[in-house]
Amino acid sequence: MFYPLTNITAEKHDGFIITNSDGHAITEFTGSLLIKGEPDGSSFPNGSLRMTSAARGYTAWDPTSPAYIKNTANGATLMIPSVFMSWTGESLDKKIPLLRSNAAMDKAARKVLALLGETDIAPLNSSCGAEQEYFLIDKNFAAARPDLLLAGRTLFGAPPAKGQEFDDHYFGAIPDRVQVFMQDFEDQLYRLGIPAKTHHNEVAPAQFEIAPYFEAANVAADHQQLMMTIMKATALKHGFVCLLHEKPFAGINGSGKHVNWSVGNATQGNLLDPGSSPEENLHFLVFCGAVIRGVHLFGPLLRAAIATASNDHRLGANEAPPAIMSVYLGDQLEAVYNDIKAGKASITKDGGLMDLGLSQILPFKRDPGDRNRTSPFAFTGNRFEFRAVGSSQSVSGPLVAMNTILADSLSWIAGRLETELAAGKEVPEAVATVLQEIMDKHGNVVFGGDGYSSEWHEMAVKERGLRNLPTSAEALPVFTEQPVIELFTSTGVLSALELESRYEVYAEQYINSIVVEAKLVIDLGKTVIYPAALSYLTELGANYDAAAKFGVELDTTTATTIATEAKALLATITALEGELPKHDFDSIAAHLEHGAKVIRPLMDQARAHADALELELADDAWPLPKYREMLYLR
Ligand code: ADP
Ligand code: MG
Repeated sequence: MFYPLTNITAEKHDGFIITNSDGHAITEFTGSLLIKGEPDGSSFPNGSLRMTSAARGYTAWDPTSPAYIKNTANGATLMIPSVFMSWTGESLDKKIPLLRSNAAMDKAARKVLALLGETDIAPLNSSCGAEQEYFLIDKNFAAARPDLLLAGRTLFGAPPAKGQEFDDHYFGAIPDRVQVFMQDFEDQLYRLGIPAKTHHNEVAPAQFEIAPYFEAANVAADHQQLMMTIMKATALKHGFVCLLHEKPFAGINGSGKHVNWSVGNATQGNLLDPGSSPEENLHFLVFCGAVIRGVHLFGPLLRAAIATASNDHRLGANEAPPAIMSVYLGDQLEAVYNDIKAGKASITKDGGLMDLGLSQILPFKRDPGDRNRTSPFAFTGNRFEFRAVGSSQSVSGPLVAMNTILADSLSWIAGRLETELAAGKEVPEAVATVLQEIMDKHGNVVFGGDGYSSEWHEMAVKERGLRNLPTSAEALPVFTEQPVIELFTSTGVLSALELESRYEVYAEQYINSIVVEAKLVIDLGKTVIYPAALSYLTELGANYDAAAKFGVELDTTTATTIATEAKALLATITALEGELPKHDFDSIAAHLEHGAKVIRPLMDQARAHADALELELADDAWPLPKYREMLYLR
């Protein structure tokens, strides 16, 4: 199995049957087969890296991620997590850059730790624990909703009378049928070495969350993929469809995947844990400072790493972090860094004295601040939580971005520390100087207030100089910006060619997703909703006539509304049909923008008319399962 740029897991099963010298068929399983496979490279997204005529692609075993046995009703298959590359050696997958980003981070982190005086330094690894949100819908309803089946979200649907306003679902009692599903699903995960840490009801009706224990990022990424596969298959066994889309239902919360991330090793431990000794504090301040610098310099890259057509529905809505990347540190830590910036000895929130002289550093409190749900990138005690990641995404991309910007920042810090130490400064003093410089240049990215508020949106851009990239059409081109190319090439994580291919692949996916949805809007609008509206109009007409026979003139407002909305629906669909075939764009960016600024708004407009019709037609005349049915019957 391998991880192409599609966000899904790809499998190629080998049968191992060969003909021996006697001409008989035998099964033979050799080491070389285990190590190397050869799937077709051109049929996977490759952003022009592979021509159909030069299709060879290779998979190679990743021995750092455990192989496992997949049991099905008729037997068992040995599954081997692999990397996937082109014949010419470029990565066509999500695993190779993750491994490379980890190596880059390891290299830079060792340099820094050595400069801080460490002599025994074990290899560093990044860790990831991802909290996965999802919806469960009865599969009979899903079967009657072509939009859910083909696009993973509802393209039409008027809001139900009751939504999430009572907060009565979040952490509420888990419905029995759902719990039976969870137990089945988590039992399978446990057997595969992916124990669940928590599961609970989420905010929206029919929404749930599972968080497996954190582990090495590369393994966690593979396990995340496996988990999503198992979730979907197990849900079907229990009569559910599991929706991993970021926004399956308009008007209620969507689903994210909070990626908890830290880095550490066996000798120095978790370097994002403030710890209880002065040495640990010092490591922590440096690594945390490196993250602050990285997010400031490359916030737009973090935004691009989570840019998909589906995640755009969620980001910036009043439920998920905004599309502006900032760092939340918590009150105590923010105060510490502000004092560092001001060049004075720090005073902790509860009055303790902190000086950068090693021996006087006081232990940080475990939870240095309150939780901030509105921050896209929050420090949560011993790790950062990247909260803007989408629920259907592979976690690899965000992890690659985080590891790589950390590697870059640590390299920069190593260079600066070297200079300061060479000039005769002691370690704590050198650290203070470098951190002060980081806060001077990059402190603007630290924000502890309400990330949802419009004031922040304005302040972030105007006063702090941060970039707001609300749609993927604006975010994806970040992959082509010079500093980002330099970041990836200098750290050795992606070549310029590999990076460019990714831009092409993700842009194509974005456009394809929107085109498929637009086609569905046209299809369902014309063949399901419009006909239902007209039939009901005829029925209403007959009813008005019948009433007139008895001398009663009925109010015809309903009919007028239906006729008006139906007409407007069809007109919008016609406009959409006119826009879809357009292909003549000067650049990928212009094509992306057409999707975001022309196609999407027309789809929204069509939806508004359809939803207005849903609220007028008799319930039995409405041809699709409604929100109240899908969200509340389970
Ligand atoms: P919280 O309620 O604080 O969000 P959860 O119990 O939901 O915490 O856990 C969130 C995820 O973070 C889990 O997958 C957990 O294993 C993971 N996690 C905990 N510590 C770390 C760490 N140091 N690095 C990475 N992930 C971690
Ligand atoms: Mg949690």
